[in-house]
Amino acid sequence: MTLTFVIDHSFIVEKWRQGNKFRLSLTKKQKVILLRWIGSCRFVYNCGMEHRVTCYNRQYPKSVFYFEQQNALPEIKKDPDFDWLRDVPSQSLQLALRNLDIAFGRFFKGIGKFPKRKKKGHGNVTFPQGDKLIPVPISNKKSVVQIPKLGKLKFIHHRKLIGKIKSATISLCAGKFYISFLTEEEKVIPLMPLDPKYAIGIDMGVKKSIALSNDKFENLDVENIIKIEKRIEKLQRKLSKQEKFSGRWKYFQKIISRLHSQIANIRREFLHRVSRELAESQSIVCMEDLRVKNMSKSAKGSLQNPGKNVAQKSGLNKSILRQGWGMFRTMLEYKCKKFGSTLVLVNPKNTSRECRKCHFVSKENRKTQENFLCVNCGHDENADLLASKNIKRRGLASLGLEEALEAPTIIALAI
Ligand SMILES: [Zn+2]
Repeated sequence: MTLTFVIDHSFIVEKWRQGNKFRLSLTKKQKVILLRWIGSCRFVYNCGMEHRVTCYNRQYPKSVFYFEQQNALPEIKKDPDFDWLRDVPSQSLQLALRNLDIAFGRFFKGIGKFPKRKKKGHGNVTFPQGDKLIPVPISNKKSVVQIPKLGKLKFIHHRKLIGKIKSATISLCAGKFYISFLTEEEKVIPLMPLDPKYAIGIDMGVKKSIALSNDKFENLDVENIIKIEKRIEKLQRKLSKQEKFSGRWKYFQKIISRLHSQIANIRREFLHRVSRELAESQSIVCMEDLRVKNMSKSAKGSLQNPGKNVAQKSGLNKSILRQGWGMFRTMLEYKCKKFGSTLVLVNPKNTSRECRKCHFVSKENRKTQENFLCVNCGHDENADLLASKNIKRRGLASLGLEEALEAPTIIALAI
């Protein structure tokens, strides 16, 4: 006799964490204290980084771990040269080292860039005791939160906080202060069955922005970005004629950094929209497993040889997207989780050189950047669309599935 167990895998309960960022309006005194604290955390972060790099660069490379650095903090604070570190909540200093550890961890896993030194004017300070950080509304739009040694901090409360507050981070970015509450809630997430009918492959295109295996393209507003880039170029020329650190120099710097963040926003919003639409509408989302290292290498290659205007445009398009590719993957990762779909990362090797009809792999299949023409069977297709379809097939194969031709197959999930 065979016993069949039916297990309901239609949902999972997951702890869901989210950051909620608000603009702070501070008193002068609070700003002074916060600038000092943020500066101290930045100092500890940068020193921690230097420590790791110098230890690793010696003849006998040695890895430094978080606890080693954390345990050194009390000694450093005893040193009269660094006694100003004692002003800062010690848990916040430890968290600066913890964040550094996370940044290195991401780098070694291949999902993040090499950690950067924090520059003056940027940085953050985190307060871990979330249960003590409860915002109290004082008007329709404003709330205050009490923080030891700082008093009550006012902020514009434009969104409701849902769940339990785990921590709060105050950050400084381009002269403005923000507070971000990290909240956690338990969420019931419906799991979509793995259905090849609702599977999609994504390829980052050359001429168009993102190619999808359902023969569609998603396009970044490149024209607008080119306009902004041109303005930046002009301002850069003006900037170079100014005396360094003069009033005019600072003025141009400010506008340039604002324009750069405009470009970043266009890209981020585009990637947010596309990733949301895909995660929501598909049950399986497949993309290439591009590690950061390979990405920057090929981005350089594509920009070294820009050719004509069209190529320049596509090169720019590509380089802009390349920069956002890691971000796109992270967005897809958490959005797929949110909507219960599955993200599959596939081996990127030859995805745009392999014929999807006869599986013949050759460089010769790609005589031009845009078109694919199989030298074996004569299959002719847009190269980006072909790649997205190869990516989808590889993704499905790694799940043990095949492409749906007619009716969707219902696959039972096994644990
Ligand atoms: Zn072929």
